[in-house]
Amino acid sequence: MTTNKIAVIAGDGIGKEVVPAAIECLERIAQLHAISLEFTHFDWGSDYYGEHGRMMPLDGLEQLAQHDAIFLGAVGSPEVPDAESLWGLLIPIRREFQQYINLRPVKTLDGVKSPLANKEPIDILIVRENNEGEYSEVGGRAYRGLPHETAVQETIFTRLGVSRAAHYAASLASSRKGHLTSATKSNGIIHTMPFWDEVVEETTRLYPDVTLTSELVDALAAHLVLKPWTFDVIVASNLLGDILSDLGSSVTGSIGVAPSANLNPEGDFPSLFEPVHGSAPDIAGKGLANPVGQIWSGAMMLQHLGHPAAAEHLELAFESVLREGLGTRDVGGPSSTSEFTAAVLAAIDVLE
Ligand code: ATP
Ligand code: MG
Repeated sequence: MTTNKIAVIAGDGIGKEVVPAAIECLERIAQLHAISLEFTHFDWGSDYYGEHGRMMPLDGLEQLAQHDAIFLGAVGSPEVPDAESLWGLLIPIRREFQQYINLRPVKTLDGVKSPLANKEPIDILIVRENNEGEYSEVGGRAYRGLPHETAVQETIFTRLGVSRAAHYAASLASSRKGHLTSATKSNGIIHTMPFWDEVVEETTRLYPDVTLTSELVDALAAHLVLKPWTFDVIVASNLLGDILSDLGSSVTGSIGVAPSANLNPEGDFPSLFEPVHGSAPDIAGKGLANPVGQIWSGAMMLQHLGHPAAAEHLELAFESVLREGLGTRDVGGPSSTSEFTAAVLAAIDVLE
């Protein structure tokens, strides 16, 4: 039996509550499916920043590289500037490990109330390009403090970057309903977005069973609210994908249930799995945190590590607990974080 080495960064706030909850579930599943998971914990994040002036040690990336996957809770706290926690940990990890796909399932779950009136089931995969695009370091500011002060920020798309994201999304679509929607804004952004459109189109042509619709992101956002059940796979640039996936998780219900994977699809480097939500300082330490986003991210990690049956078992377990109405407060249920986790552990055994 090969051992899957997993680096755990629980991080800040409710990360410290939902990560241990998810690990309990993963350990139980691993036992039942004869999978060997070895967890190594790293106490990086805002407390570490308070002591050392950085989010992780200088050789942090080298330490993470020794693992098969990274399981992250949330980093960020009111005391640390948002840009520090993003550029001091998450973005270096995404780039160093070529995690060029950010995959976010948007799916309705029984027991999680959607704010939409129409209750048709939603099942979308949002593929966000994760390494380039609008999140670039190219740019600067001039004439500080003067009336003509100017800020410039460049968007960078490369053929390699766009085409590999499009390949990933098109092949996903081809394994599902065969419908790929690409988010664009080529009517207003006249250099980078038409290039995005061109490369996505060329790439999708290699998948004859996939139909591609390019949609202006403003209209797409409206459609995501008005008729989200019509989408299958959505591919979007870094910034547009970030916005669309938060919107997606809101139309299905609580942000507390949404998972994500930062993937290096080739497996040359470790991929990172984290819930969509942040450290939620407003509810931290109170036992109110919904652990579903973290547990579901754990299921995506099992899938990526080559354990699809275990991943499905874990998903069925938390879905059944939610269906019984035993969710946490954010989804209108009565359970605390630990009560919900205990119910998932019991469901894992029942579903064996
Ligand atoms: P960060 O700065 O780390 O992004 P944040 O507070 O800005 O943290 P989130 O952590 O995503 O952003 O929280 C947004 C809102 O959703 C908060 O009111 C929070 O309490 C709620 N929330 C987030 N995650 C959960 C969860 N797992 N369970 C219950 N409520 C949650
Ligand atoms: Mg935030």
